[in-house]
Amino acid sequence: MPTPHRPSTPKAQGELHHRRIQVTLWTGSALLVVLGIGWALFFVGKGAWPIVAVDVALVAVGVLIGALTRFRRTRAAFFLLTGTIWLVICGISLILDVPSVQAPRSTHLFLLLLAVISLLFLRDDRAVLRLGITGICLVTFVVLASTTWSLTPDYVLPDSLRIWGSWVNSGSSAIGIYVVLHVMVADFAEQSSLEADLERGLAHGEFFLVYQPQVTSAGQVTGSEALLRWRHPKLGMVPPEHFIALAERTGQILPLGSWVLEVACTQLKSWSAMAGMQVLTLSVNVSVHQFCQPDFVAHVADALQRTGAQAHLLKLELTESSLVDDMEDVITKMQQLKLLGVGFSLDDFGTGYSSLNYLKRLPLDQLKIDQSFVRDILTDSNDAAIARMIIGLGDSLQFTVIAEGVETPGQREFLIRHGCHRFQGYLFSKPISPEAYEQFVRATAERSV
Ligand code: C2E
Ligand code: MG
Ligand code: MG
Repeated sequence: MPTPHRPSTPKAQGELHHRRIQVTLWTGSALLVVLGIGWALFFVGKGAWPIVAVDVALVAVGVLIGALTRFRRTRAAFFLLTGTIWLVICGISLILDVPSVQAPRSTHLFLLLLAVISLLFLRDDRAVLRLGITGICLVTFVVLASTTWSLTPDYVLPDSLRIWGSWVNSGSSAIGIYVVLHVMVADFAEQSSLEADLERGLAHGEFFLVYQPQVTSAGQVTGSEALLRWRHPKLGMVPPEHFIALAERTGQILPLGSWVLEVACTQLKSWSAMAGMQVLTLSVNVSVHQFCQPDFVAHVADALQRTGAQAHLLKLELTESSLVDDMEDVITKMQQLKLLGVGFSLDDFGTGYSSLNYLKRLPLDQLKIDQSFVRDILTDSNDAAIARMIIGLGDSLQFTVIAEGVETPGQREFLIRHGCHRFQGYLFSKPISPEAYEQFVRATAERSV
């Protein structure tokens, strides 16, 4: 089995979507900086200092959006960009773009563009957020289109300038909407095709699991996490972040998740016959959708029974989003599985909305510090504080704490110093084939003798 690598082609659908988002953010950031500087220079000449101050603020926001995009905080960058553009459009519409008999208001047309961009950008987000932002844009559009309200009734731009402005605004917003709708159609077609590919891929054996070792501070291997990979016949290796969300939306995650559980349990069983591998745990990611199925417990019990895997070596990784819906149902399911011997780890901990109250009630065994906190643990005091807080929380609730995404000795040292003694990350090993993992376990055991 080949070792996993990043996608060999940029054509993977999730990657295309990600690139589009990046391009939109960079363009928005550049636009704010250029417009801000241009307007500031223009109004400096007229001595309109309050407007210059607003322009300088726009430049600062543009730079901040660029920085957030650069550091992969694309959601924050998007919300900042959308909010700023919305304010700018409303401000210009209510101050400068007051309709006259000769020239209708036109700046508000950009709100339609903002609405369709939000629909595209937030396509994988919660519906309430997607529809909420789009709705705000459309309602504001309707209000501005239906009124002649102005914050400065005495201030009217000359009609000659406004007529020209109406043509430019209407033309450029129409072109913008045309382009975004075109991208939306392409995006939709790509998604549908990938959706069909997912189904075919499962039937044709294009999926496989790789295993990333988990180690202690003493260098001992305690187990591994099973991670799903897709070798697409045309696109090459497609990483899970590019197809799991789609599989969740289309319901394909159910057959895919069953397949993962089956393969992971079969692998556990085969390791139980190998020297040095018998006590190693195997963590399996479970999606919200999968966990919410009424027959989930029976499904896991069935997989364990059929494959002969030992339940106490199987650890199910849930994310905080799995736990928000029906708390009592979640606890019942977890307790039933615990009775079988199955363990639980809370993945990506700290990125969702955890209530300390529910954490106390859940029969968990492990908290996983998300890699986004580990990444900058040495340079970002907030991330370091969050990691320390999770370690303290794990200690007091008697859960083990494991840090994921550990890439440098410095990160490992910091975590050990603060009481975290289990790690997973490229510092130790990338996710590897089962054979390579067996080799890794053997080599680690030999080193420690
Ligand atoms: P996760 O469960 O949080 O898995 C950890 C991810 O971090 C994996 O990405 C792993 O390859 C990556 N990783 C580990 N160490 C490092 C490191 O040192 N540096 C960096 N930069 N990354 C590291 P991967 O395999 O791409 O998986 C991404 C996500 O896809 C997983 O996040 C999980 O949420 C989901 N996923 C993977 N396999 C499955 C599966 O079988 N079922 C379900 N439902 N989700 C899965
Ligand atoms: Mg995981
Ligand atoms: Mg994780």
